[in-house]
Amino acid sequence: VAEDPGHILTQNARVVDVFRSEVIEAKVLISGDRITRVGEVEELPEDIQVIDASGKYLAPGFIDSHLHIESSMMTPLTLSQEIVKRGTTTIVADPHEIAMVLGVKGLAYMIEEARQARVRIFFTVPDWILTQLLENGQFEQYRRDIIGLGEVSPYFFSSDRDFIGVSQRAKKLNLNIEGHLGPNFKERRLDQAAYFGVSSCHESITQEEALQKLSRGMTVIVREGSAAKNLVEILGGIKEKVRDTRKFIFGTDDLEVMDIFHREDIDHCLQLAVETGIHPLEALQMATINSAQHFGLEDRLGSVAPGHYADLVLLEDLEEFKVAMVLSAGEVVYADNEIKYDPVPIKVPDFCLSSFKLNRKLNAEDFKFRVEGSARKARVRVMCAVEDSWLAGGSPAPGTACSPG
Ligand SMILES: [Zn+2]
Repeated sequence: VAEDPGHILTQNARVVDVFRSEVIEAKVLISGDRITRVGEVEELPEDIQVIDASGKYLAPGFIDSHLHIESSMMTPLTLSQEIVKRGTTTIVADPHEIAMVLGVKGLAYMIEEARQARVRIFFTVPDWILTQLLENGQFEQYRRDIIGLGEVSPYFFSSDRDFIGVSQRAKKLNLNIEGHLGPNFKERRLDQAAYFGVSSCHESITQEEALQKLSRGMTVIVREGSAAKNLVEILGGIKEKVRDTRKFIFGTDDLEVMDIFHREDIDHCLQLAVETGIHPLEALQMATINSAQHFGLEDRLGSVAPGHYADLVLLEDLEEFKVAMVLSAGEVVYADNEIKYDPVPIKVPDFCLSSFKLNRKLNAEDFKFRVEGSARKARVRVMCAVEDSWLAGGSPAPGTACSPG
C-alpha cells in the first residue's frame, strides 16, 4: 500500500442492517472508499475523522434503479450534484434519448462525464447501440459502466426471432435485460418475455400488472417521478398480497429538475412508501439492497457491510427520511445543507449542442393531421395522456378517457 487511505469512524448511529431488516447499534469504520468494520471497533487508525451521529440513522445510499438523465434537463454531473443531496448515491440510467439523436458518440459522452460524478452511474443501453459498440470494438471500453439492455419489450422487435437473438446475446455478455412491458401486456407475451430473460419492468401502472410480473420472477421497479406516479397504486395494500417484497425496487424514470428541488427523488419514494403502509426498514431495502441484488451489485453496494463501498446516508428519521449527511466512496459529499466537494466543471462537447435543426418557425398548422381530400375516416397514432401517468400507443386502455385529437 503506497499511501494510507483516509479513515472515518461513525459512532452513536443507529445503523440500518438491511439483511436482518433491523436497526443495530454499531460503529462503522471506513478506510479509503470502503467500509472495513461494523460493530465494536477497538483499535483505531491514526488520523481518523470521527463523525458523531447521535440520534441519527446510518443507511446505505439510495439507488435509483431506472431513470433517463436527459429528462432531468441536466447532464450527469449536474444531476448527480442535486440528487446526492437527497441521499441517492447510485443510479441506473438509460441514455436511449441521447443515443437516438447522437448514436454511440452521445453515449460515450454520457459515460465519460458520468465517470467523473460523485454518484455512481451505471447504464442500460438499447440493443442497437450494443450492436454498434460490439461492431466498433468499443464494448470492452465501457463494460464496467454498462450493466444491461434497457427498455426491452418483445413488441419492439420486428420478429420473435429478433427478440430471442437479442436476449440471448445479452445473456451471453452477462447483461441484465430490463423490460418495458406495459401497459396491458398480454399474459402470453409476459411469459415469453420472462422465458427469454427479461428480469424487470418499470411500466406497471396497476398493482395487478405488477403482481403478474412478480409471479413470473421479475423485479418490479416501482415508478415515482415527474411524468408517472405509480407508487401509491402499486404499493398500497401490497402486504395483504405479497409476503416477500425483495423484488420491489424504486425508479424515477423521468425526473425534471424542478421536481428534484421540490423533493421528488428516492427520499420521497421512501416517505410515500411508508405512508402507504410499508415498514420503514422494508422501504429502505427497496431503495438499497433489493436493487443491488437485482443488478448483481450486492457484493459492492446496497448495505452497510465490510467490503462494500462507503456510500452512506445519515438520516434524521425514518418517516420523512430527511438527509443530514451523505458519503460517497468514503468521502463526505454533503453535510450542513451543502455540497462538500468542488464540482467538476461541465464541458458539453460541441457535437452535443444544436442537434435540433429547424429552418423556420412552427405554427399550429404544422401539427394538423392531413388526410386524402375524399377520406371520411383516418387511422391516427396518438399518445394518450392520463393524469400523472401515460399510455402510449394507438388504442387507449378500456376505461381510459382519451379524447380524440
Ligand atoms: Zn424509462
